[in-house]
This record gives sequence, structure tokens and C-alpha cells, in this order.
Amino acid sequence: MHKDTVNSEPSESVLDGLVRTVLSQNTTEANSQRAFCSLKSVFPTWEDVLAADSKCIENAIRCGGLAPTKASCIKNVLNCLLEKRGKLCLEYLRDFSIDEIKAELSNFKGIGPKTVACVLMFNLQHDDFPVDTHVFQIAKAIGWVPAVADRNKSYLHLNQRIPDELKFDLNCLLYTHGKLCRKCIKEGSSQQKKKCNDNKEQERCNSCPLLNYCKNS
Ligand SMILES: [Zn+2]
Repeated sequence: MHKDTVNSEPSESVLDGLVRTVLSQNTTEANSQRAFCSLKSVFPTWEDVLAADSKCIENAIRCGGLAPTKASCIKNVLNCLLEKRGKLCLEYLRDFSIDEIKAELSNFKGIGPKTVACVLMFNLQHDDFPVDTHVFQIAKAIGWVPAVADRNKSYLHLNQRIPDELKFDLNCLLYTHGKLCRKCIKEGSSQQKKKCNDNKEQERCNSCPLLNYCKNS
């Protein structure tokens, strides 16, 4: 996910946003950012990426991890776009409804619900609530989703329940909190709450405002 950069790049193309989100899977923000910049500097246009050998694409994005998977996903998107639309551009999605966008993007192999949700929210300015690891763990810990729900079910559940006008801000808040605080996630998922031994520990325990809302605490 690339929330920290969202405000600095309001004019990012939808295709750039999609690829950036693909590169953000299973890695840190710093690494995915580096992978995206590296890809753009080796291949200035998407036509260059499409024409390139898969190995060269993999090498360019290696620092973001899962290079072969991500390279083939990106190349497949570009291939499909050229075949279906005649050019390497996703701007046409701006005229689509949310459901149409979800259907269109999900058609690409390797593009899952979280990637679609990120593009919806960051690049197409629709109200959506992507559920990444951080958001998922906090939602679980504070009991906002059923205990048995996996990430995709949680996504459907939270999108249904959270009012549209709160989605963007709340998502950024939970995502940022999840990145900075491990306390609520650990407390919420452990069956027994650890006892705070001394004042210092007590202070640290109280430092997360979500602890009082954790289900198992
Ligand atoms: Zn916390």
C-alpha cells in the first residue's frame, strides 16, 4: 500500500497506481517504492516494459521481493490491455462505476481484491476500505469482523459496515496505527492478556488507545 505517497502524487495515472500497488504486495513501503522507481528508471514507458524480457523486468523490481510473480503479473496486465483496448492505459476506468471497476480489474490474473481496493481509493477517488495486514489485524483485535473471517471476507464486511464518508480517513488511521503499534494486535489476538509488571510496563500498556477495545483483553 502506498498511503504515505498518495497526497504527493495526485496526478498519478491509474496504470502507474495499479503497478505500484502490485509492487507493494508482501514487502515494506520503502522496498516497494524503490522497486517502482527502479522499474520506471530502467523502463521509462509501459511500452518499454511490455517489450522487455521478463528477466529484465524481474531484475528491475528485485528489491521489492516476489520479482518473478510480480513481473509476470505486470506483463500480463500490459498484454491484456494492448489486446483489449489497443493501448497501455487504464484511464478509461475513471468513467466506470465501482462495480464495473472491480469487475474489470479482477479480470487481470494476479490482481486481487486488496489491489483493486487500493486503486479504487487512491487512484480513482472512490470510497473503499482496503484491508491489508495491518487493517485486518486491528479489525480482528477490536472485534469489527467475525473471528472466522479471512482477509477477503473482512474486506466485504468492513466495506458494508463502514460509512463511505469515513472510509478513507479511517483506513489511513488504522493502517498507520498498525504500522506503528504492535501492542493492540498482540493483545487482541492472545488469549491471555499479559500482566503489566511495573509502572513503566503499565505506562506502555496504556499507550495504545485501542487496547480498551480489544476483544480478549
Ligand atoms: Zn495499538
